[in-house]
Amino acid sequence: MNMNRRQFVKAAGAAALLPLVGSGLAGCGARSGSGRVVVVGGGFGGTTVAKFIKKYNPALDVTLIEPKTEYMTCPGSNWYLGGLKPVEYLTHNYEGIKKHGVKVIHAMVEDIDATGMSVKLNNGSTLEYDKLVVSPGIDFKWGAIEGIIEVNSEKMPHAWQAGKQTVLLKKQIEGMKQGGTFVMIAPPNPFRCPPGPYERVGMVAHYLKQHNPKAKILVLDPKDAFSKQGLFLQAWQDLYGDMIEWVPGKDGGKVSKVDVNSMTVYSEMGNIKADVINAIPAQKAGALAFKAGLTNETGFCPVNLLTFESSIHKNIHVIGDASIAGAMPKSGHAASSQAKTCAAAIVNELAGKDVLMPTHVNTCYSLVSDKYGISVAGVYMFSDSKIVEIKGAGGVSPKDADASFREMEAMYAFGWYSSITQDIWG
Ligand SMILES: Cc1cc2nc3c(=O)[nH]c(=O)nc-3n(C[C@H](O)[C@H](O)[C@H](O)COP(=O)(O)OP(=O)(O)OC[C@H]3O[C@@H](n4cnc5c(N)ncnc54)[C@H](O)[C@@H]3O)c2cc1C
Repeated sequence: MNMNRRQFVKAAGAAALLPLVGSGLAGCGARSGSGRVVVVGGGFGGTTVAKFIKKYNPALDVTLIEPKTEYMTCPGSNWYLGGLKPVEYLTHNYEGIKKHGVKVIHAMVEDIDATGMSVKLNNGSTLEYDKLVVSPGIDFKWGAIEGIIEVNSEKMPHAWQAGKQTVLLKKQIEGMKQGGTFVMIAPPNPFRCPPGPYERVGMVAHYLKQHNPKAKILVLDPKDAFSKQGLFLQAWQDLYGDMIEWVPGKDGGKVSKVDVNSMTVYSEMGNIKADVINAIPAQKAGALAFKAGLTNETGFCPVNLLTFESSIHKNIHVIGDASIAGAMPKSGHAASSQAKTCAAAIVNELAGKDVLMPTHVNTCYSLVSDKYGISVAGVYMFSDSKIVEIKGAGGVSPKDADASFREMEAMYAFGWYSSITQDIWG
């Protein structure tokens, strides 16, 4: 659906306001109650839920467990690959949320005892909880395609969990021979950040156009359609001519095997010799969700969509990419929105109050060059035990916008990034 400027402003306004409405309601109604809340995973979902539980009710004891002392965001990591932003821009620490009274422990949770209501850490300690929130992100289905196995990601990075992998992929792009071929193996649905692979392609092209203009980018995709497809295809053509070729599943985009030694990709369209391979595997919930028995046959975690409490284990809530969240995409913005309503539900439940009716938001900006941005926004509500999109409240960037509109959206993308990371880690 196309969206005019007025509708866009309306959606953006809703996106900005709704979480605050949630926080105000929870704060007014639920400053009583006590309890210990443990949060696993200091990414978009986990850090937000820890911070907002403490904001809504400072009397609660909130502990966040995350192995890393510094978290590099996936949002913006494509901008880094395109040479637009340095690593430091993407890197956040936990000093900000400590100031809000959240205790932070840098360790891995090894296991969850859902009956005894405790978590076991890899530093030997055990923490008891009244409520547990799990936001472990994603893991990969290694071996789903022959040759795409974990050890080979050192040579053909996925860069789908930001950090060392992202830096490695950038080095490979910078070191690619003149006129070389960059092959992306796109993942099947469902995966984190539906527009992410296609934003990445534009950002890699932005870099190559300046430093390696005869290079080619080939996207081998098992799918026949992708997020913001019309906008991306148009922008690639306008900005990069025939540098980028996208091959959908129906035209031979399915990959059956990769030989990392000869850097050959075997696909239905033929065997391709690549200089850089960005192999993004199929995805499932983070490993802890499996170990704790929180997943179902889909490989993700079913939850009560009013509170994000697991449908399998009581008093354990699962948010973010690991959860099955109805119509919401797997995105950082969605994870943070779920975290705020989950925080309100937990605070109210611990205070013996009714759970409020949640409304959620998501916005995903994608850059195709430093001055060319496109976006998709959605507003979601709880209805009939489901999370459904509110028709007409969101939409995508208009198809025939002029250059100044695209440039403005690129500016909004940077603004979105600053606001959300400050809201979470600040
Ligand atoms: C290239 C790319 C671009 C993207 N761009 C956007 C964008 O523009 N906008 C957007 O909204 N989203 C974007 N996303 C998606 C976004 O990154 C994810 O949806 C988001 O990070 C999900 O949050 P999460 O809390 O579920 O998981 P994460 O943010 O991945 O956090 C999970 C955390 O849990 C920790 N953890 C895992 N297991 C354990 C354990 N056993 N014990 C303790 N800690 C543990 C991990 O260390 C990690 O820090 C992008 C993703 C990619 C790959």
